[in-house]
Order: sequence, then C-alpha cells, then structure tokens
Amino acid sequence: MSPPHRFARWLPLIPGLLAGVFTLAFAAYLLQSRDEASSQRAALLEQDLLWQKQAIEQQITFDLQSLSGLAATLNVTDLNSPVFQARVLSLIQTSPEISSLSIQNGHGEVIWHTSQTAWAVPYEGTGGWSDVTLSHGEPKVTYAVATPDHRSFIVASIALDTLLQQQVPWWIAQRYQVSLLDHDNHPVTSKFQRQLDTSGISHTILLTAPPLGMQLKADLYATSLSATGDILPALLLILAVSMLASTAALSRMMRVRAEAEVRLKAEVAFRHAVDASLSSGMIAYDRYGRIIYANRAFCEMVGYSAEEMRDFKAPMPYWPPEEFERCQATYEAIIAGHIEPGGFMVRLMRRNGERFDVRINASPLVDGDGRHIGWMGSLHDVTEIRREREALQASHERFVAVLNGLDAAVAVSDAETGELLMSNLQFDRAFQLPDLRGRCCILPFVTRRAEPPVDAEWYDGFRDRWYQIKSRQSTWVDGSAVWLEIATDATALKSASERERQQNEALQQTARLISMGEMASSLAHELNQPLGAIASYVSGCRNVLSSATPNLGQLGQALDKMGEQAKRAGHIIRGIREFVQRRAPRRQRCDINTLLDTVLGLLGHEIVRRMVDVSILQSEGMPPIFADAVMLEQVLFNLIKNAMEAMDNVPPAQRILAINLTREADMLRVVIADRGVGIAPEQQEQLFKPFYTTKDTGMGIGLNICRSIIEHHHGRMGVEANPGGGTRFYFTLPFSSAEEVALEP
Ligand code: ADP
Repeated sequence: MSPPHRFARWLPLIPGLLAGVFTLAFAAYLLQSRDEASSQRAALLEQDLLWQKQAIEQQITFDLQSLSGLAATLNVTDLNSPVFQARVLSLIQTSPEISSLSIQNGHGEVIWHTSQTAWAVPYEGTGGWSDVTLSHGEPKVTYAVATPDHRSFIVASIALDTLLQQQVPWWIAQRYQVSLLDHDNHPVTSKFQRQLDTSGISHTILLTAPPLGMQLKADLYATSLSATGDILPALLLILAVSMLASTAALSRMMRVRAEAEVRLKAEVAFRHAVDASLSSGMIAYDRYGRIIYANRAFCEMVGYSAEEMRDFKAPMPYWPPEEFERCQATYEAIIAGHIEPGGFMVRLMRRNGERFDVRINASPLVDGDGRHIGWMGSLHDVTEIRREREALQASHERFVAVLNGLDAAVAVSDAETGELLMSNLQFDRAFQLPDLRGRCCILPFVTRRAEPPVDAEWYDGFRDRWYQIKSRQSTWVDGSAVWLEIATDATALKSASERERQQNEALQQTARLISMGEMASSLAHELNQPLGAIASYVSGCRNVLSSATPNLGQLGQALDKMGEQAKRAGHIIRGIREFVQRRAPRRQRCDINTLLDTVLGLLGHEIVRRMVDVSILQSEGMPPIFADAVMLEQVLFNLIKNAMEAMDNVPPAQRILAINLTREADMLRVVIADRGVGIAPEQQEQLFKPFYTTKDTGMGIGLNICRSIIEHHHGRMGVEANPGGGTRFYFTLPFSSAEEVALEP
C-alpha cells in the first residue's frame, strides 16, 4: 500500500484523539479553575468572618459600655424612677440579645429585675463574664457589672442565639452557616438559612471580646449547580462521548467506503481488462439516441474514435447508403425498446468504405439508482462467420452435387438404430425412399449380419435387381458410429457374367464334344469290344440251341456274359453322355482317384494304341476334394490327352506318363509329366491363351478352359519343363473342408 493510504488508515482516529486531548485539557482547566475558585472563596470567607467578628465584638462592646454606664449611675434606692426605667428599656430595645437584666446586692439577692425576666440569675462575684449556660434550652452568658461602691451588681443575661440572629446579616447568612463555639470547640449556637450541605470550606476565629474563649465559625454552603463546577464537566463528558461515538461511526463509515472504493477500483480494472480484451464492439446510446459510449473494439470496427462518435445521432456515418433503411429501422427499434431476443443482423461500413456484417444485441441501460437512461448494444463481427458459412454451404452443395452425380447409391445410417442420416439422390431413387429420410436404412438387412467391412451382393427381389454393396463402419460428424454403405447396381454386370458363364459352359461342352469327336474312333473301338463279345455270345447261344439236347447251363452262362457286356457298353455310353452334357457347375465332395479312373477308362483304348506307359504315384489317405467332378474329369482328360499327343513322335520306350498326387498344406497338388517334345519357356504362358495351338486339327481352347476351371475352384494351374525332358503340367485344389461339406446341396 502506498503512504497516503497508510495515512488514510489513521485519519479516522484523529478526530477521536483530538476529542480526547481537548477533553483532558478542558478537564485540567476546570480542575484548576475549581481550585482557584475554592481558594478565592476561602479567602473571601476569612474576610467575611473577620468582618462578622468585628460586628459581634462591636455590639458586645456597645452592650458592655451601656451596662457600665448604667451601673455607674445606678441608685439602688431609686430603682423605680422613670429615668432608670427609661434607660433600661432603651438598652433592652437597642440590644435585643440582652434577654434579661437584674440588679443584685452584694449577697446575691435580686433586688430588681426586668419584667420580661422570668427568672434572675443569682450572681456571686466581682463582675465579668460567666460561662455559657443553658436556660430553657437556650444558650446564654451572663455579664455582671458592679456599681462604683461595689455594693450591688447589674447582671445582664445575653442570649447567644439572639446575638447571632441580630448580628449576622442576610448576605453572610446566605453564604455561610455561622456558629459560636465554646472553648472546647462545641457549637453553642449557629445561624443557618437552609439545611444545606456545606462545601467543606470553613474558618474559625477567636472572639477577642468576651465571653472569653468563644470562637466564631463560618461554613461555606455548597453551591447547588454551578456552571463551571458541575454543568460544564457534564456537558464536556457528553460532548466527549458523542465526539468519540461520532468518530467511531465516521471511521466505520470511512472503512466501509474504503472497502467499497477498493472493490470499485477492482471492478473498474476488471471492466477495463474486459473492454481491452473484448473483440465485440460495445456502444451505448442515451434515451434520445445519442452515442454516449463506444468501446475500443467498436472504434476499431468503424474507424472512428470514441471522442469523434460522442453525441453522434442518426444517421450514423457508418451506415452504408445501400443498407440505410435497414440500419435506420434497427436503430429506431433499439431506441424504441423493441429488442429482438436473437439480435439484429445488419451490414455496417468502415470509414474506408469497407462493409462488414454484425449481429447486434441490445439491452436497456440503467444507472446506479435503477433509472433507465438509455440502451447498450453489443456488436459481433460475423463477416468471417458468414463467409465461412457460405463457403461451407457451397462446399456442402458441391459435395451433395458430387454425391448425387454418382451412379452408386450412397447412404449413411446410425450403427445402433439404423436411422438414415444421409443419402444421395441415387439411393432415394433406387430404393424409392424420398419420404423415408430419418427412418431406417433398408440395406443393412443383408449386410449387417457380418462384421464390417462387408462386400456383398444383394438381390433386390422386389425390383429384380442385383446390387454390389460395400459397407464400412465410420464415424459421423457428431462422433457416433455409423455405417457408410455404397450400393452399386450390378444387374447388368451380373447378367453379363451370367452370359459369360453360359458361353463358357457352351464352350466347354463344345470342347468336350470336340474331344469326343476326336476320340470317336477310339470310342467306336471301345464300344466294338462289348458289342463284338455280345455278337459272339449270341452265335454261341444259337449253336447250343441248335443241338438236340441244348446245354442249358452253358446257355445261362452265355446270357450272363452278354448282360455284362451290354452293361459295359451302357456304361461307356453313359460316360460319354455325362461328359458332353451341357450342365451348370455343381461342386460336391469327390475322390481324385475315382475321377482319374473314369478318365483313364475313357482314354484306355488310346493309351494302348499309342503304347504309353501310365504310372500313378500318390501318398496314402488322400482326403476328398470339393469340386465339380465332370469339370475336373475334363481337366484331367485334356492334360493326359495333350501329354500323349506330345509323345507321338518319340520312341515308344520313352512314352512315359507319370501322374503324381501330393499334399501341399491344405491343397492337393496334381502333376502330369510327359517325356514329349517339351515347350520353349517363352511359349509357356501362350499355351493358356484361347485358340493357341500348334496342331493341325487343334482348337487351342483346351488349356484355357482347364485354367478357368481350376481357378473357379480356387486353385492354381501352371506349366514347367520336366527335368528329365518333356513337359509337366500341374494344378492345385483345396481339400474339402467341413464348412464346404455343410454347404453341399
Ligand atoms: P489343342 O490341343 O487343341 O492344340 P490345347 O489348348 O489343349 O489345344 O493345347 C494348346 C497347345 O499347347 C498345343 O497345340 C500344344 O502345342 C501345346 N501343348 C499342350 N500340351 C502339351 C504337352 N504336354 N507338351 C507339349 N506341348 C503341349
């Protein structure tokens, strides 16, 4: 904290301190002045008492002189003379304190006394003062004066009460309680005006005149309420307490204010920081539409300084002419308090003429007392956002245009619910779902049984069309898992491949027919054998029947043999028919040895005629394969026939045809090796091309068909040179698996 702040912290205590110092000083002053006053009063009291003493002494002196005068002229024999009577009366009247007067002789007998004297004090002595006595409760002293002949005395009784009453004037009595004390300091009588406390200031003085040893005492009364003595200290106390209280209240208020000030400063600093960091423009109008405040961001937006804009009124210089009406309407709506919850969108103009779009949100502006003093508007520059949105819109439109331009039907659907999230025109057309957006996608019924990615063919039986469907799992814009499905109409492709398949089938049949045609002579020979045998059995039977006693046993045997030969012929013909029959492929579990047997049976005559040595080598327990038997027979037929033809021009001893069956992992490997003319390496791949032949009567389609068949069975086919001379063709075939067995129709 800075030094002024430290000072400010102690500032509230200063009035309190001053009040304390002032109170103390004033109290000291009061004490001192009270001391001074009391000493002044003590001095005054002494003075007054001295005066009072003199007054009493003068009166007594006067009394004594009067008595002495009377005694000097006393004539005892003439006590009733008018002169004496008059003198006594005059004395008693001028000195009321002389309560009685008597004349006594030398023996103490009263020979005369005043009429008001109820009693006479017998006096014995030579004259002078007596002690104080109480007579009827009143303190009195007596004074005796002897006549010149000392034969009689005048005895006067002086009432001390009356003396004081007479001699103490009102102004002394008002201030002091005046008392007469005896020589033991016991009060004998006193005069007091009021029954009031004395202030404690008193003075005693010895009366020099008789009665001997008496003292006069004055006690100062306590003044009831003296301005300086009592009211001022009370006032001072009240003043000091109220000063302290108000100082405390003031300091509390100052503390609250200081805290509020700190908070206010923090708030102002915070507001400055907010204002400095705010990218939104802030502008405030008064109730008449004048600009009373514009923040930094708004100034930067429009290019005018806050000072320039102060007191701007509509039309504002940052309204573009072409948007004037819209700006005016927005401005008037804000000033009239018609605030739209979503804000207003307007286009404004910078000082350099550049246009920019803003969204304006307005709210009422109220002052500290809650009075509505105008409007506050916040302006957000949305030019960039709008541009981005338009770009996004354009890009979206491009994307949709591209998507709709595709031949394939594309759809995105929720992975869990199947809800259709997006589809292209082609999809809507193909599946006639223009009204089904937001509902389920129909494609997943086929494809979603499997784990993604899925590539499947789907036949839409309702519309008789084939679709090639690719399904991929992906993540949608909101992060959820979706299926992306692309369905390509494969109907045309499907029918083309179907046509191709049919053509292929026809071709294969043709090839088989050709093969059979080529083998017609062999087959004829083959058939000739059973037919010839049957003919010879028929002639044998006739011979038996022509004898007188036909041997029925022989006849029966011959008929059995004929039946066997007829079966054999039938078998050959059925084999030929099956081989050349046009049929759709049918895969089933079959044994390679059985297939080999059939083929070697068909080619048996040719093998013998060409003097070929056929050997078959195979390992034990070969599992079955999953294949179309007739197709594989055709493959074996072609390869064995080609091998035999290749060995036509080599010496018969070399005509060796080796068939080797081996296992290669889960595949069967068949090798057919000959020792024929062989094939040049550069020609090896040519052989599989359709219509490649080196033979005069050849068609050149045999090997091509063979390779298609093997690949159709997921196998491979190839050719290589036989190490010992000649050629060897090989192909592989997968063994039959349990799954394939289950699929078997
Ligand atoms: P074609 O037998 O009708 O000529 P293929 O497609 O069966 O048709 O055979 C194509 C050609 O491959 C034959 O003409 C022949 O030149 C060659 N060829 C086939 N097998 C052999 C083989 N084992 N040895 C040498 N050449 C062969």
